[in-house]
Amino acid sequence: MASRNHIFVLADECKGCGLCIDACPLNVLEFADGLNSMGYRPAHYKGDGCSACGTCFYTCPEPGAITVIRNVESLEKGNCKHCGKTVFLIPDSRDPSRKRCIDCHQLLNEK
Ligand code: SF4
Ligand code: SF4
Repeated sequence: MASRNHIFVLADECKGCGLCIDACPLNVLEFADGLNSMGYRPAHYKGDGCSACGTCFYTCPEPGAITVIRNVESLEKGNCKHCGKTVFLIPDSRDPSRKRCIDCHQLLNEK
């Protein structure tokens, strides 16, 4: 059965240092294929197997880059106006009153 835990790396906050990838005891993180808006190759979740141990979060030097979600199904769901999918909505790491699409990372409720 797929893990209900989830690790969210906000690509544009990631500097591509790879510390979280090396630190994950379950080897469920890897570098993404593409680059973020600053030209770094961000880390991302392979998609399954996270135990929500938090090691990556505490290893990451960039505040706001990593969010560890224990039981992704507890998150609110909604339609993303950017990617058009019905997705889980994750509180923004800098302003939890705002939500991001867990899939395309875009903010949904602009101020
Ligand atoms: S929370 Fe733990 S298991 Fe999940 S990605 Fe981070 S280090 Fe790996
Ligand atoms: S430790 Fe943080 S900055 Fe470094 S690759 Fe992982 S998410 Fe990106």
